[in-house]
Amino acid sequence: MALLIIWETRTLLYNLSSSFVYRGIINSLLSSPKSFQTMVGPAMVTEKRVAATRLSKDELIAFIQSIILNEQQEEMGPFYVLDLGVVRSLLDAWTLNLPMVQPFYAVKCNPNPAFLKEMAALGTSFDCASRAEIQTILSLGVSPDRIVFANTCKPESHIKYAAKVGVNLATFDSKCELEKIKKWHPKCALLMRIQVPETSGAAFLFGSKFGALPEEIVPLLQSAQAAELNVVGVSFHIGSRAINYHAFEEAILAAKTTFETAAQLGLPKMHILNIGGGFTSGPKFTEAASAVKVALQKYFPNGPATGLKIMAEPGRFFANEPFTLATSILGKRIRNEIKEYWINDGMSGSMNYLKYDHDDVICTPLANYGSNDVMTCKGLKTSDSTVFGPTCDPEDTVLEGYPLPDLQVNDWLVFHNLGAYTSSRGNDFNGFKTSAIPTYLANFGCFGFFFVIPLSPRHIRSLLPGAFARPFRGKSTRWPCSSDCLSSRWGDFQGQSHFATSSSNGAKPSSPTFHSYMAPELVSPEGLGIKLNPSKLLHIFKFAEELSISKLYYVRKCCKNYEIIFKELVKILHRKAN
Ligand SMILES: *Cc1c(COP(=O)(O)O)cnc(C)c1O
Repeated sequence: MALLIIWETRTLLYNLSSSFVYRGIINSLLSSPKSFQTMVGPAMVTEKRVAATRLSKDELIAFIQSIILNEQQEEMGPFYVLDLGVVRSLLDAWTLNLPMVQPFYAVKCNPNPAFLKEMAALGTSFDCASRAEIQTILSLGVSPDRIVFANTCKPESHIKYAAKVGVNLATFDSKCELEKIKKWHPKCALLMRIQVPETSGAAFLFGSKFGALPEEIVPLLQSAQAAELNVVGVSFHIGSRAINYHAFEEAILAAKTTFETAAQLGLPKMHILNIGGGFTSGPKFTEAASAVKVALQKYFPNGPATGLKIMAEPGRFFANEPFTLATSILGKRIRNEIKEYWINDGMSGSMNYLKYDHDDVICTPLANYGSNDVMTCKGLKTSDSTVFGPTCDPEDTVLEGYPLPDLQVNDWLVFHNLGAYTSSRGNDFNGFKTSAIPTYLANFGCFGFFFVIPLSPRHIRSLLPGAFARPFRGKSTRWPCSSDCLSSRWGDFQGQSHFATSSSNGAKPSSPTFHSYMAPELVSPEGLGIKLNPSKLLHIFKFAEELSISKLYYVRKCCKNYEIIFKELVKILHRKAN
């Protein structure tokens, strides 16, 4: 059996150049297999062991430059970079500011599998709106009790599916929905979605479509009571990309009133308050969090003591910042002295919401001088320019009057904070496939931590030539090596229950990161979004064979030094073997 170690080095190598450091870490890890295992285990499952450091803007640009240079393709398509360090730091911010609120990430906002896996590994729960979203989350090994089925109108077949797989918490706001649930999933715990005053100044309001009106609340509760359905709480959404957070106070008051109405009607005591989404990351978040806390204190002062559970469904808060999109310039025209550029993603793809949703567009131009040179354009003179997307739709205009330097075909435009409602809403119009945009991961581990996957020779062969060589696709939820391929061996190797299956392990809702759970998929190379280069991989395996080592430590292709590092590893292993 070989051992595959995948080591996040890309970012590491920007900071460190001494091979001594690598040797030091490897030696200390190998000195005792036991300590090795204990280091590997917790590092993956408790976020505290993996630092929540994010790339600086310069490091991010350097990372993107290295991808452009490493790919050496004639014409590269657009690609995303997902910085998992940002995901971890956002969850830290959430836990720090709203420790009493369990986040159920709204999957629709960005269902990138690597991102979902990181969220799952960190212990968050999920808001799913369809059978397919539930399937995606369950396929990560997440237990169904970490899912809320938060679509107020669900197809009957999806309700049946939820019942079958044990998703037992769902929202409703109509009598018709209660009837369907009574028929297909009568044991389901229900949250009544209520319409709340639309005072949040949000970019997107939900009231016209979702939530029971004040006068509908009593008849709905009575219908649920008559049908012996179990209404356990209330949910609402103040609007996506809200700016006035007093809306939380009004909404939480409306929820409290609904709790009281239910009690007066003689329904069992409600005990779940779902405050929905609407959060943005950054300085506005603390403002939103304190509005929530003030309102909770005011309207549910004895909340925790009475067993009240508080949950939220943040989407944008978690998904926006971790993703950066790199696009390249396809064409150029100068008209009335205004420079116009065409790029290879646009309004039918990742930027479909840009006009309404991303008024704060941050775009970094990169000049591509070919061979070894992708340069930032810092200090160059700019002029107001237009940027078009690639399709034949005149609406496909991404930016107007945006200051850019003089750029050429094959230069790049990098769009920051582009994860929320971007790739998930893009389509394939004109044959420009949003779903085919690859995602590169940054920061999926940190200095000194390793991802270990034991592989049999058969698995190694299956790595060649191409199974893992594909980029990790944003929308794919299938990867070539499924859980059954690795799970049993993972179990053999680990032999420890905390790494095996099952999840609802009484993790404290107050601390979403305190969740010791890891599905086998989470440690597979594709699961980690790793893109392996087949020719380099062949080279490495050949090299290992020559040395007839039985354990193979793979250092991810990352930079010019990767072979040096790999040789160091092999030397140490070789010494150990003898
Ligand atoms: C879209 C949606 C969310 C996420 O909203 P954000 O504003 O992105 O946080 C949460 N809950 C429900 C029911 C939604 O439809």
